[in-house]
Amino acid sequence: MTVFEQVREAIDMRTVAEGYGLHIDRAGMCLCPFHTEKTPSAKIYPKNLYCFGCGTSADIISFTQRMFNLEKPIDAVKKLNEDFGLHIVVGEAPTTAEVSEYRKRIEARRAYEQWEKQAWKTLHDYLWLMRE
Ligand SMILES: [Zn+2]
Repeated sequence: MTVFEQVREAIDMRTVAEGYGLHIDRAGMCLCPFHTEKTPSAKIYPKNLYCFGCGTSADIISFTQRMFNLEKPIDAVKKLNEDFGLHIVVGEAPTTAEVSEYRKRIEARRAYEQWEKQAWKTLHDYLWLMRE
């Protein structure tokens, strides 16, 4: 799962919108932060915001990016992660070398666990043999 997916899983649109100061009424409408208006025409859905006034459609990441004029979507991910204490590890994208290194480590661990299990079994059997 990418950090983008993790963030989208971790918080919903309403939490983000309210967290950043939007007032959402009972109908799930709020004043659109992307155009000037007096009556709410932006609708908050679980995963995104849609404005019937200016046609803006944004999920939590593009919403945050636009609200704070952030350069890249990853900057919005970092901001959401910090502001809402999501504890998502946001790093740079791993290189192919890092990915294969990671896979190797997992395989090595599996092999070790297999060996350990086998070793215990041998030891166990041996103990029983000794007792007899
Ligand atoms: Zn709008």
